[in-house]
Amino acid sequence: MDALDLGARLAQLLATGRRVSTYKLATLDALLQHCLENPVGEHEGLRVPIPDLAERVVEAYWPQVRVYGEHGVLRQVQHTRPGAVTIPSIVHDLQHEARTWGLSTPAQLRQAEPRRWSAAVDRIAVTLARQPVFRLQKSGGREPGVPFLYDDAWLHDDVSRSTLARHDWSIDLFPGVATALARVSPLLQPVVQQWWVDDVQRHNAAELDVPDLHAFLFGADRAAVARLAPGLREFQDDRCFYCGRRLGAGVHVDHVLPWSRLPLDGVRNLVAVDPRCNGDKLATLPAVDHVRDLLARPEADLQALAAPLRWPVDTERVRSAATGLYRAASPGSPLWRAPGLYDFFDGRLVW
Ligand SMILES: [Zn+2]
Repeated sequence: MDALDLGARLAQLLATGRRVSTYKLATLDALLQHCLENPVGEHEGLRVPIPDLAERVVEAYWPQVRVYGEHGVLRQVQHTRPGAVTIPSIVHDLQHEARTWGLSTPAQLRQAEPRRWSAAVDRIAVTLARQPVFRLQKSGGREPGVPFLYDDAWLHDDVSRSTLARHDWSIDLFPGVATALARVSPLLQPVVQQWWVDDVQRHNAAELDVPDLHAFLFGADRAAVARLAPGLREFQDDRCFYCGRRLGAGVHVDHVLPWSRLPLDGVRNLVAVDPRCNGDKLATLPAVDHVRDLLARPEADLQALAAPLRWPVDTERVRSAATGLYRAASPGSPLWRAPGLYDFFDGRLVW
């Protein structure tokens, strides 16, 4: 399976299809993330649980259902009756409940209230199966479309829970598709985000400032992760994780594996850094030995740091994601080492 062919085909499908909601974009982004985080051999298939996609969809809409200034909560669906239940409305209610428990991120909620989390994920998984998962491989018209990602013949827009259960609530990617999707993700992810911004503008029929809107929809929640700064600082002997300089007053918490590629908020992916390093690294993949050092931090110390804040550590997720992200990177890609300094990826993982 050629990654570029697959990417071009997906881009064409999304460009020609009529989108009445952002669900299809959210599902494709979730699928790309799943393939990055669960690397398999080049020609292998991959079973993708729809509830796993639903969890990622909750995470994607989580920042997006906040109030956006004078515009209120932004619309993500073209036509809805007032009070209709939509995926964003489910996420909005979930977020409201989480706040009353003093929880601010989806990762915290999943950790602290797993049953409430699962109930919302389950509802969204059914909606995903009936709509975007069923329609992803079809363009807007009546033609059925030839499945090229997974077999969708058993899905339809009223598929029952028992049918979903018979299929293990999963779709099976055809051989080679998972690796191809991971490889093309650096190209497709920014395109998906840009279309998402365009669609939100269209659904809201308002003049929204694009850079602000992009940051609002896709930026990390800096305020929430900042609560981990004191603990991370202490753990790092008050030195910047990347350059080792002593940290001053303006300490930042950085996602070592870039948030824009995989939104992993577990403490395993978080470090305290100085503003100089943080402002220079941006969304670049870091040098592989930064990742080795990230993964070498003792689990017990991270657990001790995370527990009082009811924050997950997620070591296995971060380890698997690191492997997936670097396997999807081409040898020769620039990797960020220090401000103004890049390595070139030699294709070797050192963890
Ligand atoms: Zn630094």
